[in-house]
Amino acid sequence: MFFNRLDIVLPVLLVWQLLGCSSSTGVQHPNPRNTSVAIVEGLGLFESLIPVGTDSILELYRKFDPTTFQSVYKSEVSRVREFVDSMNASLDPSSRINTLAIDHSLENFGNAARVGNTLYLSSSYFFLFNNLSILRSVITHEFGHIYYGKLPAGQRHELDGIWAELKDHALFYLFRDGEYSENAKFGGHPYDSPTELFASAFNLFMNRAEELKARLQYVDRQDYVCIERLEALVRMQVTRSQSSPQGD
Ligand SMILES: [Zn+2]
Repeated sequence: MFFNRLDIVLPVLLVWQLLGCSSSTGVQHPNPRNTSVAIVEGLGLFESLIPVGTDSILELYRKFDPTTFQSVYKSEVSRVREFVDSMNASLDPSSRINTLAIDHSLENFGNAARVGNTLYLSSSYFFLFNNLSILRSVITHEFGHIYYGKLPAGQRHELDGIWAELKDHALFYLFRDGEYSENAKFGGHPYDSPTELFASAFNLFMNRAEELKARLQYVDRQDYVCIERLEALVRMQVTRSQSSPQGD
């Protein structure tokens, strides 16, 4: 509904809060003094993976309330929006992200998620890292999920086999986004499912191809064949989409 009939890529609509969300998704604006023990403990688990301690995270959430965030990170958000639009250009209109929602809830710290055509991005990505390359990686990973959704049944089946093989050979670490530069250290969980493997691989082949290639030099030749099949699947999806962005 946000696109016109000429299929010109319109800038994604930006919302500053999770409008119309149920309370279970955590719309409330956190007050660090009232933060529950469970959340603080949860953040503690991340501590070795993020550049600041738990206390500082709470402080940052307090400092960057939605209004302050909006004025401080206006240009960064605008650049993220432009990047989302550039990623949209290769997709058919129904698959594009048309809303970027900045999630200010502490509960969704470090989270990015796509629901329908909306991309939810935790405000913490901005004030914690202040690095557009990290945001680019997070968004590319989410677009990887969109591309996975468009995989034909046969290739989805092939991906299932690749995922099982990488699992058997304990090779998921090669596709964990967080192991690579310019990615949040807690990013990526390819061991969870073929979908997650595809999204992580999509991000790494798009954004960290050289670094990934360097690591693959040390992989057993037999396993390398499986990884090449994964790369072929990812690149095939990109090519297919780019050749018919208006839909099949
Ligand atoms: Zn994912």
